[in-house]
Amino acid sequence: MKPAKFEYFAPTSLAEALELLEEHGDDAKVLAGGQSLMPMLNMRLARPKVVADINRIPGLDYISPTPDGGLAIGALTRQRSVEKSTVVKERIPVLAAAMPSIGHFQIRNRGTVGGSISHADPAAELPAVCLALDGEFVLSSASNQRVLKAENFFISPLTTAIEPGELLTEIRLPARSEEWRWGFQEVCRRQGDFAMVGAVSLLQLDGDGVCQSACITMFGVGGTPLRIRRAEEALLGNRIDGSVLEDVSKIVSEELDPDSDIHASATYRKEVGGVIARRTLEAAISRVNGDDRA
Ligand SMILES: Cc1cc2nc3c(=O)[nH]c(=O)nc-3n(C[C@H](O)[C@H](O)[C@H](O)COP(=O)(O)OP(=O)(O)OC[C@H]3O[C@@H](n4cnc5c(N)ncnc54)[C@H](O)[C@@H]3O)c2cc1C
Repeated sequence: MKPAKFEYFAPTSLAEALELLEEHGDDAKVLAGGQSLMPMLNMRLARPKVVADINRIPGLDYISPTPDGGLAIGALTRQRSVEKSTVVKERIPVLAAAMPSIGHFQIRNRGTVGGSISHADPAAELPAVCLALDGEFVLSSASNQRVLKAENFFISPLTTAIEPGELLTEIRLPARSEEWRWGFQEVCRRQGDFAMVGAVSLLQLDGDGVCQSACITMFGVGGTPLRIRRAEEALLGNRIDGSVLEDVSKIVSEELDPDSDIHASATYRKEVGGVIARRTLEAAISRVNGDDRA
């Protein structure tokens, strides 16, 4: 199929883009990498009157180290640039580890970080990693700029807190102290497919291996990426051995309430969710003696 008719604009400055978005509000769609929007236009799942192509706007494509040891990433940064970035590997290795699981490299060459986060597919890797890392998103409009935490941003499948007239301009990922360790894993039928179920775990252990803080984030198992708080609480204050991991794995399975679809049943997702959450925790623990912090 071909898209329904729309008017195409290619603003060359951020101010021009924001004016355009303000003028057209709900009738406008932003075009970034086009990897999700173009299929939606072609299948007429999206029928905007106006498409605002942001690819000619300078200054939205960067990966900047922040003074606190974290990163600020421009929304138009290609996913492939993040994957290949040495500063990402050094500062936030869990992000670098997740990138190759996003589709195929041809998709990552065009697809942007901001596009993936704005699109908010519940099985997407970047929203889950941003939620796990307590990321923040900068939303700009012609009259305002606001910063939203990832936990307040993802609302339901393909729905975020971005208001008509707003553009996601920057993704901020704070630094983790040296004691944090990480694990990332997903299960899909073929390399490059969306995850049927995925997990990102972050652990902060003290010198005796006792858990000080924990974050278990699951994706592909609900309308948005999900923190599994009850499982996190079960880790706190414990030295993490096989029996704690077994308990946590069970809790994760119990807490998940996924849907069945053509890719996997709800039962499968619940069971495999518990298993891969445990594996990501094991991976995090195995990194304790390395210098591979989250
Ligand atoms: C075959 C295939 C396999 C894929 N597999 C995966 C996968 O395994 N994991 C995964 O995460 N993704 C996957 N994707 C999706 C891919 O990551 C997309 O690149 C991403 O979802 C959208 O990014 P984009 O830059 O292409 O955005 P676009 O397609 O241009 O836009 C997507 C949506 O976000 C909005 N938008 C874009 N940028 C902004 C912005 N800065 N501010 C506000 N709104 C904005 C658009 O209006 C649109 O609604 C796959 C895609 C394909 C075609």
